[in-house]
Amino acid sequence: METKKIINILPTKEGFFGEYGGQFLPEGLKAEFDKITEAFLKYKDDPIFNKELNDLFKYYAGRPSPVYHCKNLSQKYGAEIYLKREDLNHTGAHKINHCLGEALLAKKMGKKKIIAETGAGQHGVATATAAALMGLECDVYMGEIDIEKAKPNVDRMRILGANIIPVSEGTRTLKEAVDAAFNAYTKEYETAIYAIGSVVGPHPFPMMVEHFQSIIGKEAREQMLDLTGSLPDHIVACVGGGSNSIGLFSGFLDDESVKIYGAEPLGKGDKLGDNAASITYGKKGILHGFKCLLLQDENGNAANAYSVASGLDYPGVGPKHCYLHDIGRVNYETISDIEAVRAFYELSRTEGIIPALESSHAVALGLKLAETFQGDKILINLSGRGDKDIEFVMKNYPLK
Ligand SMILES: *Cc1c(COP(=O)(O)O)cnc(C)c1O
Repeated sequence: METKKIINILPTKEGFFGEYGGQFLPEGLKAEFDKITEAFLKYKDDPIFNKELNDLFKYYAGRPSPVYHCKNLSQKYGAEIYLKREDLNHTGAHKINHCLGEALLAKKMGKKKIIAETGAGQHGVATATAAALMGLECDVYMGEIDIEKAKPNVDRMRILGANIIPVSEGTRTLKEAVDAAFNAYTKEYETAIYAIGSVVGPHPFPMMVEHFQSIIGKEAREQMLDLTGSLPDHIVACVGGGSNSIGLFSGFLDDESVKIYGAEPLGKGDKLGDNAASITYGKKGILHGFKCLLLQDENGNAANAYSVASGLDYPGVGPKHCYLHDIGRVNYETISDIEAVRAFYELSRTEGIIPALESSHAVALGLKLAETFQGDKILINLSGRGDKDIEFVMKNYPLK
């Protein structure tokens, strides 16, 4: 008998998935990242750590999140459509999964503070929440433009006790916020930990964030088996940095019958600066301490990424996604702003669920697959709820 291929690999000791990932760090920081790696590897198999984390998942975040069969959409589109409801987590998205994990690890390592960056504020809110819960200080670096745009999240973070540190460099958005947070961390690493917002950054962050997000795929696989008696034919998630998607995919990568799709943001089109589809349009490059497929100009500088969903507009993408793309295990397709907004309204009106604009990209791709693969079972990761997007959508894409 043929032995089963294991596709769901861990990175090498140096943090590489194929040629992607690694640790491209300033001299002084290498030792500190090695300490984080060591602590993570120790605690991830520690029964007490895992009991604490699982209790937080269950009693604090509200896990397991349900898998819901969309009867109305299924009837309308001719395939069986299921949603993994990460929107029902405390704070309204999947980000709380890895923030709780990282904050618990910070506690165990004796750190006093969490440093984070945020774009639209989602990662900042999840980090501030976990920090408040664990009695840690929290510094959130945020571009001045984003501070203006995402006022409710700024207020939320302040209520939760976080310090918001405005970043006035460059485009004054996410990319510069990451640089600023990283700079601060190089000065404070003895007492602070850096909590990155996705499966990006230097090793061990891609591996660590994936580990904490893999609860999504683990639950979803069991829930689909319980609910339907078999695995889904297709699974779909949106890809920004790639954490909610890798969390779902990790549960199914070794199931050869399951086809896997990532929805990348096409934004306004295929021109550089108009989208954030790093796998589709990127070339190999290094950003924020790791190697990945990167949207870049002819001089190799990271481009400004754009998507209607601000949680998706990062010019790079997690190294494992680049690897999974190269070996052909995951299909990465693009979804435009307009398609995402249409899916936003469609799910709201057909099922009574308002999705985040990020998650709407996954919904849009899932509905396309339904039209092609009639009768198949399609599982879509609903990474977050749309409350944060309501004002923006009403202003820019009003009801006709
Ligand atoms: C941040 C965010 C994303 C994108 O991040 P990934 O790391 O790609 O998962 C997707 N959906 C929601 C709701 C988010 O807040």
